[in-house]
Amino acid sequence: MALTAPMADECLICSMEESGPAARVFRDQQWAAEVAPGYEVPGWFFLRSRRHAEKLTGLDEAETATFGRRAHDLVSAVERVTGAPAVYLLSFGENYRHFHALVAARGDRVPPERRGWALLGLLAEGRDVPAAHALAARVRLAYEEIVDEREHATVR
Ligand SMILES: [Zn+2]
Repeated sequence: MALTAPMADECLICSMEESGPAARVFRDQQWAAEVAPGYEVPGWFFLRSRRHAEKLTGLDEAETATFGRRAHDLVSAVERVTGAPAVYLLSFGENYRHFHALVAARGDRVPPERRGWALLGLLAEGRDVPAAHALAARVRLAYEEIVDEREHATVR
């Protein structure tokens, strides 16, 4: 066993490099956001480092410096499209140590007992691949608009 071999072969988060364009919100040098295989609840996205970096503390300087910007833009896009009163940003780093955060819209029809941690219980009944991908397409456009708006604001 080579001690230097990355965990990529068995890493779900690394395998998302192969995900198709229908699942994708964006992909850049350091970060990507997609609907994750097995987690296709409409309004749920995984924001992940493209490199197999383990835990938040495993991010390098460039990843650390850009994480806040990407999280802000992604959550803004999800808010804009869904109108959800809350958009969660969750990172456990336990089952999949490759750094990622779940960005999850909590819609206004979710009852109080299903909010907070309990929202994750929606995975059992809330998976809907076509609806998750349709929403991803709208969030992708909103994300692109948000980035464009900021770039135009700074060159003025
Ligand atoms: Zn990985």
